[in-house]
Amino acid sequence: MTQTVSGGIDDLRAAMEGLVICPEDDGYDEARRVWNAAIDRRPAAIAECATAADVAAAVRFARAEGLEIAVRGGAHSFPGLSMNDGGLVIDLRRMNAVTVDPVTRRALVQGGALNRDVDAATQAHGLAVPLGLVSHTGVGGLTLGGGMGWLSRLGGLSIDNLVAAQVVVADGRILRAAEDQNPDLFWAVRGGGGNFGVVTEFEFGLFEAGPMVHFGLFFWDAEQGREALGLAREIIAELPRSMNAVPAAAITAPPAPFVPVEHQGRPGYALLLVGFGAEAEHQQVTERIRGALPPLFDVVTPMPYTALQQLLDEANAWGFHGYDKSGYFAELTDEVIDVLVEHAPLKTSPLSVLLFYRLDEAYSEVGEEDTAFGGGRNPRYTGFFIGLTPTADMLPAERAWIRSLWQALRPHMLGASTYINGVDDHDAQDAAQVQAVYGPKYARLAAVKAAYDPDNAFHHNANIIADVVPAPRG
Ligand code: FAD
Repeated sequence: MTQTVSGGIDDLRAAMEGLVICPEDDGYDEARRVWNAAIDRRPAAIAECATAADVAAAVRFARAEGLEIAVRGGAHSFPGLSMNDGGLVIDLRRMNAVTVDPVTRRALVQGGALNRDVDAATQAHGLAVPLGLVSHTGVGGLTLGGGMGWLSRLGGLSIDNLVAAQVVVADGRILRAAEDQNPDLFWAVRGGGGNFGVVTEFEFGLFEAGPMVHFGLFFWDAEQGREALGLAREIIAELPRSMNAVPAAAITAPPAPFVPVEHQGRPGYALLLVGFGAEAEHQQVTERIRGALPPLFDVVTPMPYTALQQLLDEANAWGFHGYDKSGYFAELTDEVIDVLVEHAPLKTSPLSVLLFYRLDEAYSEVGEEDTAFGGGRNPRYTGFFIGLTPTADMLPAERAWIRSLWQALRPHMLGASTYINGVDDHDAQDAAQVQAVYGPKYARLAAVKAAYDPDNAFHHNANIIADVVPAPRG
């Protein structure tokens, strides 16, 4: 049953430049849709904000009406954290402008922008900031949880490049957070998720990358898992800083034009390789891979950085049913590889995949305490274990597969921390799991939460609980 707002929705409409959409309005079903088709929630109202002042009005309205707040950025959270039942959704999708100053190498990015909006605006000047591998993901949720992608060896996480943020906090104030202004808030939004307010603008520092990059995809047969992952481990250990690679297990060769027809639909293992430096450097690594373990097929080509960022868009299109978990690994050890090879044949959907992002170099040069990011800064892999199905009835089997794989991998993970942007619905709601993500940083985060959101107005996320009981009002 859909809850309706008791009254005053017209007051919110009058206070906002943007639209307010209620269940009886045209466009409600489209507005409440999120990336993961397994999520079907019915908020009482969706405030499609156009400005930071709109966001402040929506926050104040929700609190006065006692409505639960959810904040929608790019709507890509697997557990659907940007949509709620019966509450007010603060929808940032209209706030997607990106302004680049090529002289100061800064980008102002509104809180609802997608990765592709930022890539397009920054690449026009040959500049970039590390973002994720799929261009329709939201910059908001991705950045607030850390943000990792192809540029993370060269430039660290998205948060490592954040210079300032504009944040609408729980009492409706619009604050600037930076090293010299509300530094506790600035620290907390770099990894602490949406717990501290609605970020209406991110200011990123940019560096040179692209516009052309070198790409390689190497695909091996399902029987060659051990050798392929072992080779990936060796190659990655030797990669210069200007290159990056993502090994993929349990991958199915897609029906894409770059895959020979006879191999389309074939399960196997892959290594995705990207070079931001000289072609010769990329060529050398390519030849080494081909010589060490000839792949079933490969594709090696230069491409624009913006095309690289969109390469996996279709394989992760809106409308699939998804479930994911994550974990950090110091190395792709033989034991980890054994688990992957054992579980890979058990997947039931061609869309599912197990990816390992490499984090070292620039990532590891950031101080452990500099940001709220929960993962340690020593070199590592982040494993993304993605169950993705074309239909709802296929999801339970894939969910069970991911869970059993994750349990088997758990003893090989680096501590109890997992990537906050890769937690499942259960872990996002489990206080002990969220504490495990942040480890010793949790207490500091809880103190910042107490300062900016003591009543926990922003809790539809991997929730950090304030460390003080708020004084009774009135
Ligand atoms: P939403 O669902 O809109 O939001 C997620 C959470 O962040 C919610 O709690 C929401 O309230 C909060 N939030 C969003 N925007 C704001 C804001 N402006 N202010 C305050 N709170 C906000 N992660 C990586 O690091 N690298 C990747 O390469 C990567 N690839 C992905 C590919 C796909 C297809 C998907 C589905 C996810 C991927 N992720 C990746 C994970 C991604 O970072 C998270 O799902 C992230 O939460 C998505 O952000 P969003 O804004 O799209 O999501």
